[in-house]
Amino acid sequence: MFTKILIANRGEIACRIIRTARDLGIRTVAVYSDADRRALHVDMADEAVHIGPAPSRESYLQASKILAAAKQTGAEAIHPGYGFLSENADFSRACKAQSLVFIGPPAPAIEAMGSKAAAKTIMAAAKVPLVPGYHGADQAAAVLRQHADTMGYPVLLKATAGGGGKGMRQVWEAGEFEAALAAAKREAANSFGNDEMLVEKYLTQPRHVEIQVFCDRHGNAVYLFERDCSIQRRHQKVIEEAPAPGLSQELRAAMGEAAVRAARAIDYEGAGTVEFLLDRDGAFYFMEMNTRLQVEHPITEMITGQDLVAWQLRVAAGETLPLAQDQLRIHGHAFEARVYAEDPHNDFLPVTGPLLFLQPPDSSPHVRIDSGVRQGDEVSVYYDPMIAKLVVWDEDRDRARQRLAKALQEYRIGGLTTNLDFLYNLATCPPFRDAELDTGFIEKHHAVIF
Ligand code: ADP
Repeated sequence: MFTKILIANRGEIACRIIRTARDLGIRTVAVYSDADRRALHVDMADEAVHIGPAPSRESYLQASKILAAAKQTGAEAIHPGYGFLSENADFSRACKAQSLVFIGPPAPAIEAMGSKAAAKTIMAAAKVPLVPGYHGADQAAAVLRQHADTMGYPVLLKATAGGGGKGMRQVWEAGEFEAALAAAKREAANSFGNDEMLVEKYLTQPRHVEIQVFCDRHGNAVYLFERDCSIQRRHQKVIEEAPAPGLSQELRAAMGEAAVRAARAIDYEGAGTVEFLLDRDGAFYFMEMNTRLQVEHPITEMITGQDLVAWQLRVAAGETLPLAQDQLRIHGHAFEARVYAEDPHNDFLPVTGPLLFLQPPDSSPHVRIDSGVRQGDEVSVYYDPMIAKLVVWDEDRDRARQRLAKALQEYRIGGLTTNLDFLYNLATCPPFRDAELDTGFIEKHHAVIF
């Protein structure tokens, strides 16, 4: 096992990784920008290295500064967390070139999944079911249009380089196609510097169900079941839960096995997530694979009793997976709610400023708070305004849901507008109680939630 690692991230995920590293007796090095001089992750780490000004481009995305910090402190490995450099194949490669272990998959696996179009080609070969659509190289508008017409509307235009719900447009009829294509391409070019598009059948009212997979370098691969992330706003997750309500054992196994096939197809290593859309009739379709630890990984930890960061560290150090498939079980039910400094009554605009008062509900075996801020800290304009992830667990879904509602009610944040009331309304509304989940949930039940 490593004796010292560097964490190339900030906020809650940096703190989360440090906690497990400590448990395993590994020393930690934090990196920080000007805005994070007094941040919690800096306090928690054994050492910290300043890497530049507040904007991410000049600090947390500066691969060379991070590599230099690792060398300077004698760290043997780098954990990238999520976001920032976590899915950057060049960074993975640069680590290796400097004899540092990148705690994540090898560069070719990241590259294979980096383009949604290339990923679909690989998955088709591995017999993983795909959303019907076109993901070819010919990008002429007439060609894309022809595929949409043949497939039938509605269709979804999606940037092959996309992420975070950007560069996507629904098209409801042929007459809207050209304008939607132009808008999607413009957004994709601005966000990703690449305006290549794929065309997919737009599924109405699907669920977003994703599978957590893990692979080691000795040929072992397992799935740690699923998370239902259907509660979304603008294609961004708001509340996640595990396991997915109402999934049969057969479907769970079929999705898990497809996800493992997907991971094996790209010689995967470490933690990964295979995202599927699940149709009302139980058909599931590959969407994309995220080659990192996900924000919502704690709900999987809660239902399996496993520490996924510990698994990542073990696998990166060359050990075999801690458990085999038949040793993994689901116990109980977990939810995660993302607590944000944002204004639900003003189009969810991010809110910045000092956290004058901050009192989370008490942690217990049922309630876990993953946060990177303390009272008095500032939610800045530079980074994601997430304050915490509130994670709850209980024996069954309804008890867990009631825990979630109670914890949201007990959460006290003063000085900043947050989405706590919005999350509470969601957690307690009848359709959520009854697990009537699909990706259009928030829009459909707008009147009850707001
Ligand atoms: P991103 O990488 O930008 O997050 P994804 O491909 O993961 O994009 O899709 C994000 C969300 O968009 C999904 O969780 C789902 O809600 C919706 N979505 C994606 N593809 C489809 C589709 N073909 N039909 C209906 N909804 C879709």
